[in-house]
Amino acid sequence: MYGKKKKIPSRIAKEEDKVFLEYEKQLFELEIKRREIIEYITSQVDKNFINNNGCKDCRGRGWIIQQDVEISYPPCPNPNCTPDSRLKSGLAAKFTDHDRKNSVTNPCGPANPIYSIIVSPLDSLIREILSKIVKARNALKEKGKKY
Ligand SMILES: [Zn+2]
Repeated sequence: MYGKKKKIPSRIAKEEDKVFLEYEKQLFELEIKRREIIEYITSQVDKNFINNNGCKDCRGRGWIIQQDVEISYPPCPNPNCTPDSRLKSGLAAKFTDHDRKNSVTNPCGPANPIYSIIVSPLDSLIREILSKIVKARNALKEKGKKY
């Protein structure tokens, strides 16, 4: 009798393990897809920047980083770097803390059209699976209380 009682929870646990494994597999695949698309977006943004002679001094930002006692961001000194030239080249892809401080929009983030079309729905799917995992975990805890 004691042996039988012990087997029941472990059989349930195995079923739950399968569910968790399936969720983990789905998450893993979605995260790989997401990474590949972000890499693609990054390469496209940089390609556009290079093909349109993006300014190497400011990386299309219009300001440079000056580090004296404090960090400041004076305008880009390159005479060929104008609002028009920057509009044409866009921003170089690499996004830094200096960009964040200057309220620059990440060119490879949600404002990017490819990102909004492909990555945002993937993010929703990832959030959905994460919430399923939390629910399954809570269900497992409740079952645990019964035994
Ligand atoms: Zn510049």
